[in-house]
Amino acid sequence: MSTSAAKIVAVPLGAGQEIGRSCVVVRMGGHSVMFDCGIHTAFTDERCFPRFDMLLPGGAAAAVAAAGGGGSGGGSSGGSASAAADAAPSAYAHVVDALVITHYHLDHVGALPHFVSVLGYRGPIFMTSATRGIAQTMLLDYVYVMRDRKQVEFIYTKEDLLYALSRVTVISLHERVRATSSLTLTPYYAGHVLGAVMVHAEAAGHSVVYTGDFNATADGHLGPAAIPPLRPHLLITESTYASSTRSSQKRHEDKFVRLVAEAVAAGGKVLVPVYGFGRAQELQLLLDTAWQERRLSAPIYFAQGAMQRANLLYRLYASWSRPRGVEGEAPPPPDRCPFAFKHVRPFGSKDMLDAPGACVLFATPGMLFAGFALEAFKHWAGGEANLVLLPSYCSPATVGAQLLQGKRLVTLRQGTPEAEQLHVRCRIETVSFSAHADAAGLHWLVRHLAPHHVMLVHGDRPKVAVFKSALARSFGVRAHAPENGESVHVPADPSVAVEVSKALLAAARSPPAGAAPGPAFCGRPQGAERGEARPEGGLDPERGWERSGDATDGGGGGSDGGSIADSEDDADSSVLGMGEAGAEVLEVAEAAEAAGSESCVAGAEPPVKRRRRAERLAAEEPLSRLAEVEAGSGGGGRGGEAALWGGHR
Ligand SMILES: [Zn+2]
Repeated sequence: MSTSAAKIVAVPLGAGQEIGRSCVVVRMGGHSVMFDCGIHTAFTDERCFPRFDMLLPGGAAAAVAAAGGGGSGGGSSGGSASAAADAAPSAYAHVVDALVITHYHLDHVGALPHFVSVLGYRGPIFMTSATRGIAQTMLLDYVYVMRDRKQVEFIYTKEDLLYALSRVTVISLHERVRATSSLTLTPYYAGHVLGAVMVHAEAAGHSVVYTGDFNATADGHLGPAAIPPLRPHLLITESTYASSTRSSQKRHEDKFVRLVAEAVAAGGKVLVPVYGFGRAQELQLLLDTAWQERRLSAPIYFAQGAMQRANLLYRLYASWSRPRGVEGEAPPPPDRCPFAFKHVRPFGSKDMLDAPGACVLFATPGMLFAGFALEAFKHWAGGEANLVLLPSYCSPATVGAQLLQGKRLVTLRQGTPEAEQLHVRCRIETVSFSAHADAAGLHWLVRHLAPHHVMLVHGDRPKVAVFKSALARSFGVRAHAPENGESVHVPADPSVAVEVSKALLAAARSPPAGAAPGPAFCGRPQGAERGEARPEGGLDPERGWERSGDATDGGGGGSDGGSIADSEDDADSSVLGMGEAGAEVLEVAEAAEAAGSESCVAGAEPPVKRRRRAERLAAEEPLSRLAEVEAGSGGGGRGGEAALWGGHR
């Protein structure tokens, strides 16, 4: 039953027509959820944070704030975890009902300690175990550099960071988590980086999918994004490479391996400046596999420090290297961890830079502006047999950017008292990698999910405008590309729960002999919201949420009567939570839909549900196959990160 006033309101507090500080707040079915809480690494002042102030009364996004939140003035001013905990309740304490983080990149999680420990948010926070584990290491590095080395005082402290992460609830793929009495969150595999998820949020029949960053094609260390065809009212998707189509991943990988192998065969040293998390492990795995296959012996090293920690974390969370629950994509067995490299080992002391012989070295940072990568470059740039292989985007004014411009006389530490010039005689090459979906992948996702509306975030203004028009032309779907603080209103036709007695169901299923089939009940009477009358479990009095379903179940239960039922097959279908009767009603409702009728037909067969599950599994087929078909050749989205700790491209 539709309600004319029913709608979903979404507002970006960050990532609106920009790449950075991802943070989108959605109000749906009387509940509000914040997706991601990142920083913008291009800003060195408080503009790096999302516009949280917009959630407070009088702010541009106040309409999406939680009903009970945002009522008592400014946030906590303590500036530390303990101070915030002791202070009077903050205006931000319950300004949203739930917060979910999609992955560990700073532009998606970097503002979390600020929002929790400085501003005082006290609602539930959800992320995967891999995201929490890797985010902690990355954010500790970030705090060390910003506070201890750069003396940036407005950045939160280590204690703030640890306090915020202590409040995290870990979620698993396909596990439907109840964030509030009727707001549920279900994560799906996003590719992109280890532990990354897309999130399906549902409340009172309203349905939203938020992608975070995702990759529609597999690479050497991650599977492609996998999500059922959910038909949400609103899809909020990244649009980083909305206007470019990459050539195949394999072509880039082959080129990378060929260049490195040729250089070491000629006795050269190969420097790969790369970010510590993600791309570094992907490329180490690529070379490790190639060395194994080709029986090569030149040593492959990674610089100690951040990359060593990253390698250990990737081993710890290696099961995320492939999506779970997708046919043919089982996670690797424990004894075949892809990140337990056979040919890659830590680099020793700096003296080894002058040792003779060919070798490969992965070192940070990716843009060659400082650190061990720059040190190695100074030692090796003069050797004609050597190779510097840049796999990532380089910001202007960095040494990496000068090399990509073809300069043979480069300035190191430009703009500082230590600036010096260096003649480059070694070979310079670049190979583009990207962990994001390109235009073909984005189009696939929209076609696959079949949303009613699409909202574009995490993209540069001109590209987003082009993609928005393309969506309207290709799919006839209404697309929105709001600025930060600009509301998107999406009319929703929410489902409502249906209660019916077992006796009535039995009568409907067993009509008197000779009676013509007729409607057992018509329409969808209003009733309890999803899960309101769930007979088991219950809310955690401390946190106000509960788990449900089986983490390995692709879409929740339905047959056990206690789980929240499937709903991905129809955003408008009713969802139950009424014990045994709930499952039975669902079957009848599905049968009615299969019969193409608004009415429920007595005696309808329930196998529709089994067919739907089979269809869903088939639909979760890796996106890469289709994306590969759709992808043309030529032009390329280049990979790139904006900061030392890994970034957003
Ligand atoms: Zn990302």
